[in-house]
Amino acid sequence: MYTKLGLFIGGKWIYEAKKGEDVLNPFDESVLGWLPHATEGDLNDAVKSSEKGFDEWRNTDPEVRSRVILKAADILSERISSISEVMTLEQGKPLAESAGEINQSIAILKFNGENAKLIKDEVVADRDNGLKTLIKPQPLGVCLCLTAWNFPIALVIRKIAPALAAGCSVIIKPSEETPGTAIEVIKIFQEAGLPKDVINLVFGVPHEISDYLLSRDEVKKVSFTGSVPVGKLLAKKSAESLKRCTLELGGHSPAIIAEDADIETTLDTLTGFKFRNSGQVCIAPSRFYVHENIYEQVKDGFLKRIKNITLGNGLNDGISMGPLSNSRRVDAMKDFIDDAVKNGSNIIYGGTRHQDKGYFWEPTLIENIHEGSKIMTQEIFGPILALFKFNDYDDVIEKANSLNYGLASYVYTTSEVLQEKMAKEIIAGGVSINTASPMHPEIPYGGIKESGIGYEGGIDAIYSFIHKKNINIV
Ligand code: NAD
Repeated sequence: MYTKLGLFIGGKWIYEAKKGEDVLNPFDESVLGWLPHATEGDLNDAVKSSEKGFDEWRNTDPEVRSRVILKAADILSERISSISEVMTLEQGKPLAESAGEINQSIAILKFNGENAKLIKDEVVADRDNGLKTLIKPQPLGVCLCLTAWNFPIALVIRKIAPALAAGCSVIIKPSEETPGTAIEVIKIFQEAGLPKDVINLVFGVPHEISDYLLSRDEVKKVSFTGSVPVGKLLAKKSAESLKRCTLELGGHSPAIIAEDADIETTLDTLTGFKFRNSGQVCIAPSRFYVHENIYEQVKDGFLKRIKNITLGNGLNDGISMGPLSNSRRVDAMKDFIDDAVKNGSNIIYGGTRHQDKGYFWEPTLIENIHEGSKIMTQEIFGPILALFKFNDYDDVIEKANSLNYGLASYVYTTSEVLQEKMAKEIIAGGVSINTASPMHPEIPYGGIKESGIGYEGGIDAIYSFIHKKNINIV
């Protein structure tokens, strides 16, 4: 069953509004519900409520903060099946992927819940002259969290769990395309005992909301997950009052398959990872560089596996790939393919829309891609696997490093010398060797170059919501 859609401001649900929008099911484009938009008055109320919430939450014993976050994890564990259904309805991914994302979110809540009570004063200097310096961690204040539609629960939890662990209050604007899952999360926190003003939930026209909230002095930080252009806009806006920014932006991640790779295992890992969530994953591999001596074998191996991908309604059994989440992604895939074909690329499989109704795109395998093609330079964020041939390792590292993105990267080789070289020389937020990217809660993840600023995950995420005040006492 789908969620009743609303805003949560000052501890009250708002279901009526003058303006709003329909939320669609990407599987068949049917209307799931109507989402009210916040007015400027609502946003002002959210700021006022969050200020009150901050005052209460920062003065709450960290043990109590910890208990609330851990309780939210427990309640979420009891609702995996119902929230998976909401997520699949509004986002499209297969139910098993929705459940996997919820399990990951439970682990993140537990990590942050456990660590909330460990944030303590620290003595950093104790001198003979009697000077003692303490670092007193202080929550920053009201934080604005803005999340995208590709991971409707994990992105929300990756922001609010560390913010709450740090003692901040939160105004969150999840994606208007996947509001139901976020609403379920807010309900859970209320049931877990979070004071009513500590989280406010708003929806609306994204740039109007961020423009208004970033112009308010009460908001001390913004944390955003989404595209590079929007990240840059938000950074500019935040700079006007020097608000702190954590930006988790896009990537165009190279996967380098060396000639000594364990080919079958590599193909299994990469096919699963590439087409998960229909390719709409910021850290998904998107440029596949294959050594020329194994190129044909790798190409055939991908083709065989891609042919086994079953597209359909994520709610049904046996579906390995759902639709894309919105019509913009379908248009983007068409644009990538048209541009590549114009530049002489060869489509080995797929390359077209799958059925007229719903936002499906065939899993696609493509080769002979011209250096200047859009596939090479813009984030793909969809089910297109682009193959390139290489024969020199220094050359392929240069190619891997050639874009302005620096998020994830992948290397498949049994040579320890090559593993070490790639880990050192690839410029990226992370290098995964002979594996996909594990997103365990204790791991800090962050992009470099234009892929982001700061870290999410691990203790670093909690500290991104904290000011380290130094106290000097004689
Ligand atoms: P988009 O950048 O317009 O939107 C991404 C998200 O940001 C949306 O959920 C939207 O609500 C929010 N947003 C957009 N403009 C905003 C603003 N001015 N203020 C506040 N929030 C704003 O792009 P899109 O068309 O939804 O997705 C396409 C691109 O987004 C992809 O090419 C991909 O690069 C990127 N993307 C990245 C991630 C990620 O995990 N890094 C997630 C989703 C989308």
